[in-house]
Amino acid sequence: MAIPILSYHAIDEQRSPISVTPDAFRRQMQALSESRCNVITLGRLVNALRGDGELPDRSVAITFDDGFESTYKHAFPVLQSHGFAATVFAVAGYCGKLNDWPSQPAGIPRMQLMDWPQIAEMERHGIEFGAHTYTHPRLDRTPASDLEREIVHSKHVMEDKLGHAVDLFAYPYGRFNTISADMVGATYAGACTTRLGTVTEASDPLALERVEILYVQHPRVMRHLSGRAFSWYLDIRRPIRSLASAVLRREWE
Ligand SMILES: [Zn+2]
Repeated sequence: MAIPILSYHAIDEQRSPISVTPDAFRRQMQALSESRCNVITLGRLVNALRGDGELPDRSVAITFDDGFESTYKHAFPVLQSHGFAATVFAVAGYCGKLNDWPSQPAGIPRMQLMDWPQIAEMERHGIEFGAHTYTHPRLDRTPASDLEREIVHSKHVMEDKLGHAVDLFAYPYGRFNTISADMVGATYAGACTTRLGTVTEASDPLALERVEILYVQHPRVMRHLSGRAFSWYLDIRRPIRSLASAVLRREWE
């Protein structure tokens, strides 16, 4: 098993580091469709890692962090046209507001986040929702007294609004420490990091690898997501990504 979880943020024309244009997204989903990959929900992937259910060959999952309104406007119709599932990680305390949480770097434009009716509509059409904390802090720097609000309260807010259990989580900036990871493990069934890689049988369902779209956005790469060559490609990209994180302090996930 070597399953890529594709990681998107905004789908818009802003030339920001977290944006993919609607046209590029359309071409990427077309390439995915032509690749004979099976797009599965993250929930199904987590269940399979926990021994519940089998996965089809050539499985791929798609995630969107932060819950931008642009995901609703530009990604949702394209996903629907291909019959693709996806998972959106929403910031429970910011739904319907702007992404101006305290930890937001200055270089990221302020953008509208989807509201609860938009979330409910996407859910009715097969899009899955997970929690991405309450105020999008770096959990490795969050005081212990605030972790309950960020990890547990965010889940309860989403469950109240959606009317069902929310079992998936994504770490803002991919950051966590022992105390926050333990709380996530006691609260959720699965959690995504920003560590570059594909999910294998050996993956921890509470620290899932993902593939940031920046590394695979060319349709030619998208067509080969499930092949062995893709794992080699990520092996080459991983040290480059680590270097970029260290030098450019790229922290926007
Ligand atoms: Zn985020």
